[in-house]
Amino acid sequence: MIPYGKQSISEEDIASVSKALRENFLTTGPLVEFFENEISKVVGAPAISVSSGTAALHCAYAAIGIEPGDEVITPPLTFIATQATAALMGAKIVFADIQEDTGNIDPKAVEAAITTRTKAIVAVDYAGHPADMDELRLIADRHSIYLIEDASHSLGSTYKGRPVGSLADLTTFSFFPTKNITTGEGGAVSSPKPELLAKAKSFSRQGLVRDPNSFILNEEGPWHQEVHEFGLNYRLPDILCALGISQLSRIIHFKRIRMDTFNYYGSLLSHIDNVRIPIIKSSTEPMWHLYPIRVNADSRKRVFEGLRTSGVGVQVNYLPAHLHPVFTKYSHIVGQFPVSELFYSQQISLPMHVGVSKKEIDYISETLLKLISYE
Ligand SMILES: *Cc1c(COP(=O)(O)O)cnc(C)c1O
Repeated sequence: MIPYGKQSISEEDIASVSKALRENFLTTGPLVEFFENEISKVVGAPAISVSSGTAALHCAYAAIGIEPGDEVITPPLTFIATQATAALMGAKIVFADIQEDTGNIDPKAVEAAITTRTKAIVAVDYAGHPADMDELRLIADRHSIYLIEDASHSLGSTYKGRPVGSLADLTTFSFFPTKNITTGEGGAVSSPKPELLAKAKSFSRQGLVRDPNSFILNEEGPWHQEVHEFGLNYRLPDILCALGISQLSRIIHFKRIRMDTFNYYGSLLSHIDNVRIPIIKSSTEPMWHLYPIRVNADSRKRVFEGLRTSGVGVQVNYLPAHLHPVFTKYSHIVGQFPVSELFYSQQISLPMHVGVSKKEIDYISETLLKLISYE
């Protein structure tokens, strides 16, 4: 089976982790800050590491102080973690439909979804293609609300020459094995706003205050640390930071291979009737996490099964979030977000990762062609 996504692990990665295992610190050591600095260089803003992309979202929501009843506007076409962490904090999840070309949240739909209770807009860079961040920024500023970017797919992408991670108030990343780089499990939060990043960091480290200048209790002694607001343990250990540091050193190489794979799929599939391939908007440079195609909704299941049977590890990304049974209590229904629902009904993710060869892409495309021409 050709996997739809897979990590690329080099001998250097293995050596880097082995070395970390021989150090004094397995966690809370110097590799954490080193990794965070390397992330900052790629994303163009200060960053903290955390234990997953889900943790990163939770920290971002904690940083903006989400409270029960706050509304958070999200796109339906995403992994459920975008919504789950906010919902668990008591936020009301509001959906805004997507653009039918990129699959990203539609600024017009966002504008229409804003109320006096809106706390934040959350954009998801679907498949690695940055959302319309300038348009979303204008809306967020006009209503004095936060803009968060779930960039789990788009580490390494740029938007109008600026790296993803420097655009929103807070940006979250995932280092799950299928994502653009991996630490096994892991994630990061970046922000150009120091006070927001400090809050995210504190939340990810149990809320412990260690700086004597910030103490409320002053007479305790040299052992003292104190908590002003609750947090959780979302630390990424040094062992995994060692893997991340080594992975990040190859991100330009990874990006080029993913772009080559994108272009090669395009050269084979762009002229095929009944197959729609992903587009790139001008002045964006995606680092592709997925290769999402769309076929006729009537034949999607047959084509999907045909590809799987032929050894092509395809996926569907995603069941629109509002259709998950967990949302029925908010009375979301089929037909409510038609662009997302149509997108989902037609979508198939073809294998996209550093290890797919041209020969495999030839085979995947031929298999797809045979299945499509059967229509
Ligand atoms: C992968 C992913 C997440 C969650 O990341 P984990 O590291 O698996 O917790 C969140 N949002 C999106 C869009 C993702 O693809």
